[in-house]
Formats: sequence, C-alpha cells, structure tokens
Amino acid sequence: MSLNEVKPARTDEESAPAVPYYWKSVDWDGLMRDYPPPPHFQQTTGKMSDQELRALQNARFLARMDDAWRTPFYDTRWRAAGIEPGDIRGLDDIEKLPTFTSDDLKEAIAAAPPFGSHQPVTAEDLAGTPFKVHTSGGTTGFPRLTLFDPVALEVQAIQTARALWAQGTRPGDAVQITYTLAMANAGYCGLYACLHWLGAMPVTTGSGVVTPSERQLEYALKIGTTAWYGRAEYLARLVQVANETGFDLRSLKTKRLHSFLGPDVDGHLRGQLEEAWGCPVYDNYGTHEIGQIAFECEAKDGKHISEDTVYLETADVETGAVLPAGERGNLVVTSLHRSTPPIIRYDLRDLLVAYERSECSCGLCTRKLSMFLGRSDEMVKLRGTNVYPMACQSAVTADPRATGEFLCVVAYSGEGLSRRESMTVRVEKKSDEIDDAAFAADMEAALHRDLSVRVAVEIVPPASLLPLTQVGSTGKSRRLLDLRQNGK
Ligand SMILES: [Zn+2]
Repeated sequence: MSLNEVKPARTDEESAPAVPYYWKSVDWDGLMRDYPPPPHFQQTTGKMSDQELRALQNARFLARMDDAWRTPFYDTRWRAAGIEPGDIRGLDDIEKLPTFTSDDLKEAIAAAPPFGSHQPVTAEDLAGTPFKVHTSGGTTGFPRLTLFDPVALEVQAIQTARALWAQGTRPGDAVQITYTLAMANAGYCGLYACLHWLGAMPVTTGSGVVTPSERQLEYALKIGTTAWYGRAEYLARLVQVANETGFDLRSLKTKRLHSFLGPDVDGHLRGQLEEAWGCPVYDNYGTHEIGQIAFECEAKDGKHISEDTVYLETADVETGAVLPAGERGNLVVTSLHRSTPPIIRYDLRDLLVAYERSECSCGLCTRKLSMFLGRSDEMVKLRGTNVYPMACQSAVTADPRATGEFLCVVAYSGEGLSRRESMTVRVEKKSDEIDDAAFAADMEAALHRDLSVRVAVEIVPPASLLPLTQVGSTGKSRRLLDLRQNGK
C-alpha cells in the first residue's frame, strides 16, 4: 500500500470527544503574572510590602474558600463548627475555621473513593481537564491520591524554579534529578521547574533503584551535570559509592546541591555533603499537597516562603492555639492557588518555626521558615520524658561510622506490672568492618546526652534501613516504628 492509498483518519467532529489540550488549558501569560517565575518573582511578589501582600493573600484566600464550600468535606466540617458561607470575611477570620490532618483526608477518601469528598471530580471533569494524579508518601496503608490540574502542576514547578534560581541555577545548567518520576511529585517539581521555567536541562536519572549509583556518577561526568536535585540521604549515598569505587567527586562540574536536609539543626549533614562534593548545599521544604513552598537562597539564612502561593500558621502541639512568629509549632497551611483539592488549614504535624517578614541580603522580602524539626506525631513519651526521634539525628550524623540512617523502634518490654515502654535506636553502620559493640556504646552515650533519657542502640548493616525509613520524598524520612499498637 502506498502512502496515497492510506485514508485519513475520520474527523467526525460531532462524535469525536474534544481533547482538553494541556497547552490550551492554562492562560500562560495570566499564570506568569499571578505566580511569577524567576527572575520576575524577585521583582514582584517576592518583595511586596506587607499591605500589598496581605491584600493579595486575602483575595486568593476568599477565592479558595468559594472552591472549598463546593466540596462535601469542607461544607460538612465547617457547618458542624457553626460556620456558614459568608461568615469568613478574610484572613483575619481564618482561625475560626477548624484545622484538619492527613487522618481526616484518609477518612474523606474512604467515604468517597478513590479521590475523596475534598476533591469531588466527575467523569466529565476528568474528560474536560488534563489532570495528573500523585500520591503522598504515607507511612501506613494505601498511599493518598491527590489530583493536580495544570495550574497546580505549574505553580509547584514555579515554586521549585524560584528555589533553584535563588540557589544559583540558571539557563544552561544541567540539573540531575535523583527523585524517581513515579507516583510522588517531588521529581516532577524538579523536571517541570527546569524544563518549563528555567531553561535548565533536567537529567532525570531517578533514584539508585532505577539508575544504579555508579551509573549516576558516569552520567554526571559525561553530561557535565552542574547541579543536583535530590534527597540528602541519597546524595550522601553517592559520596559513599564514589569512595568505594575510587570515583573523584571533585572531578565533576558540580556547582551546587539542591536538597532537603530535614532536621539538620547543627549542620553536620550539610557540612559532610559540602566537604565531599566541594560545593554549597541548599535546604528546601515542601509537602505533597502544597508543593515546594520554602527555599534557602545563597545566604543560607532560613528558608524564604513563596507567600503568594501559601498562607502559613504555626499551632501549639497540645492545644492547637495559633502561636506568634518565632515559636516552634505544628505547621498549618492554606494553599492560595489550589482549587482541586482546596487545602484550607491543613495541620501537617510538621514541627517548624515561622519568622516575621524581613528583607534578606538576596533582595527578597518574605517570611522565613526554620529547618524541619521533626514530626509532632512521632513524639514518644518515654519514662515521663518527651522524645522526638529526630533529636537522634545530630548524634548519628556526627559519628563517621554511621551512614546517617536510623530508626527508633518503640515497643513494650517485660510482663504485667513490670511491663514498660522501651526505645531501641537502630543505627546503620557504613561498613561491615566496624566494631558493633564499641560503636553501640558510643552511640548510647551520645543519645543519652541529647535525649536526656537512656535508650538502647542496635547497630545494623549498611543499606538495611532505607526500605523502612524512606516513605516520602522531601527529606521527611520516617524515624519511628511504633510496635506498641500490637501489644508487643
Ligand atoms: Zn534571601
């Protein structure tokens, strides 16, 4: 059959469904005005006056309230709290709205599967708008599904592009992304940030599971990778692989690492990475639903918040009362750009400090966030003392025999009246040659000092903990395994 004989596909416009083309589904100029990517961000929403910003946040908050009232999830919860449409006139009233947690979202999904009563989409909605589905890195059960429409996808990419730019990445850089492009959104934040909003070349190697670590280093060498975007634990793993295989990391063209350091309060992890890679390491913060909302700039003096995309509060862990700026509490977030699903007063149970707005030496004027300080729902009461598993991190990363991976296992020990809670910290060693007994004794002493309570230490083989601790993708590894529910 020659080409001339091929009949064109039938183009019956009456019966063919209209395709919601991605490139037509966004008002791109409007998006750039509303959520400016770099370098415009630096001149616009990244340096507004307090009054201008408050007015912008207020208008977006009220629009998101309208979206939320249309969902059974918010409508039911708010009416149960005695709130009617129109009662909330702006951000000054936000504290009247109840907060919710990921447990509430799980219930909403169980009640209206698969997406939940907070994101009620019909088959027509799915056919009329190009949606992407992502999952959270939940610690138990089936992962939580979240829909991303084009605005949600592009704004989280713009948030990430702002971060990469503030940390020095520019058009022409090659950014190696070591988050796997699968169900979690972190990898896509990096990919779309580079491709759509920076003109930097994404090198999407994914994690060591999909591209072996030795090959990752070869790609970096051959392509000339200038920046990396990935989990701190994996960037540390690459150091280990380089050492084992005699690969000189300094032979690469790496100029910076864009990472998620987690609660590296004393800077051990950052220091180790910077020493090994020979370049600065920048910290970022984000979560599944609200994207990468906070980023360090080259000043490394707290993390700038993309305040045109998110409104932040911090709340007392015990009472839920909103705290003044500068005090550590649970981060409560309201997305200012998401319509599906609307996110209004989501208590993430991430412990952080949010500071007042201030001018930074980089030129931005924003509120700033502290380091991620741990999960408040991982707090354990051990013999009357509150213990946060994240408080183990400094001691673990400070010891050169440790890979940095650890897991606190809480269980009951003993029987009857002598039964009590005990915590064992599993610490991963760097190599099999290390003396377990001496290492464990030193770790026990260091942890006793940091936690103010005595815990047992179990030294475990290299690379044995990652399957248990790697649940998310943004530096918020699981550090607690609670076996008490089983009565064991
Ligand atoms: Zn700055």
